[in-house]
Amino acid sequence: MSLHAFQENDALTMHPSDACIVLDGISLFAIHKIVRYILNCIFKRFDQDIDVFMRNYPFSAIIGQEKFKTAYLANIVNPDIGGLLVTGVKGTGKSTIVRSVESILPELTVVKECLFNCDPGTREKLCTFCMEKNILETTSKQMKIVNLPLSCSEDRLIGSIEIERLLKEGKKQIQVGVLGEANRNILYIDEVNLLPDHIVDDILDAAALHWNTVEREGFSISHPAEFVLVGSMNPEEGELRPQILDRFPLSVHVNSIMNAELRIEIVKRNIVFSKNPEAFYELFKEEDDVLRQSISNAREILPDVVISPSHLRVISTSCSDLKVDGQRPDIIIVKTSQTIAALDGRKTIREEDIVLSGILTMMHRTRDGGLLEPPREDEIIKTFKRNFKELQSGSFEQPVKFSINSINKKVDNFIQISSEFDDDDTSNPIERKKNKNLT
Ligand SMILES: [Zn+2]
Repeated sequence: MSLHAFQENDALTMHPSDACIVLDGISLFAIHKIVRYILNCIFKRFDQDIDVFMRNYPFSAIIGQEKFKTAYLANIVNPDIGGLLVTGVKGTGKSTIVRSVESILPELTVVKECLFNCDPGTREKLCTFCMEKNILETTSKQMKIVNLPLSCSEDRLIGSIEIERLLKEGKKQIQVGVLGEANRNILYIDEVNLLPDHIVDDILDAAALHWNTVEREGFSISHPAEFVLVGSMNPEEGELRPQILDRFPLSVHVNSIMNAELRIEIVKRNIVFSKNPEAFYELFKEEDDVLRQSISNAREILPDVVISPSHLRVISTSCSDLKVDGQRPDIIIVKTSQTIAALDGRKTIREEDIVLSGILTMMHRTRDGGLLEPPREDEIIKTFKRNFKELQSGSFEQPVKFSINSINKKVDNFIQISSEFDDDDTSNPIERKKNKNLT
């Protein structure tokens, strides 16, 4: 029996199932995948979780890749951010980190026997079947990752009718699509750059609308499709169209870790995990539990996280200075800053939350109508810091007074903008201080 160790690049994947261990010519990775597939088929019938038996690498055991982890957790806390694109060369642990989050995902309260995991607490977000029920019985389900197969057809994605049953029994039975399975879960698209454009468009449309409709053979069913969209790709294998790139709210580029000490620790953890996944899982269970709790806490805090008018001004001025296309980036930066603060257990946003959100939001975006390349990280940091400095020094541009100020005030009440300033105040804290001293 020969056991070949990891190749250099494989050590960085951090997932033993991705590592190239060869046992008498048979790939253990392949065996792992086949066993997982068979168990999946068996346990799916009984609605059981096979990960009790087939553990993923624990999230807390991942070393480095802090931006990726923060962006990912922010999306789990607040799916309204809309998703994340992860780029990086082979062997940097993209898929491992995406899968590892299963160890910290919270439980969902769902309508019993609903095919789409409807939330019984929100009447306006029920599927066609649940809408017809007078009483909604509830049950708990583990939030999970739904993988999109690379060869996914439109029917498999959107959902369809079970043709065999229709022909045999004359009954119309819905075949739940990937978008239906993904509702309130994570939808993971590995190698998103290799998918046909129309499939990517369908997914991004559903992600934007939060709804999907299955229409086949005179049958029409609508269901919520609110999922955390995570796409990963290796840019060496092909680019994504800029139009599709722009529709991913956040992006992170994963680099290989070059610190030797960290690499050694990664290798050690991989070897221990591959020998005994269950014991390794127990080692990190406490840290995973803390993270799971911080996701729940962040979800509770999030509605109370306020953003100040001065922070809003820095965000929009920086987006304008960097010439990013459209206004979506400003909106995403606000939502992400609020969520990062909530993840840290705060109801107030700090400058560093905004700068990090700016980096995550803008590094993949076209600018100046597509004429400019996306901004570099150092360019984004410099722009935000300059605008924060200008705000402090009082040289910031005065706000434009709208003629519909009373309506603006009402709008502010709905989106957690703090009442930092009175009507007569400027957005400049120094000027405001001066005014107060005068009165
Ligand atoms: Zn339902």
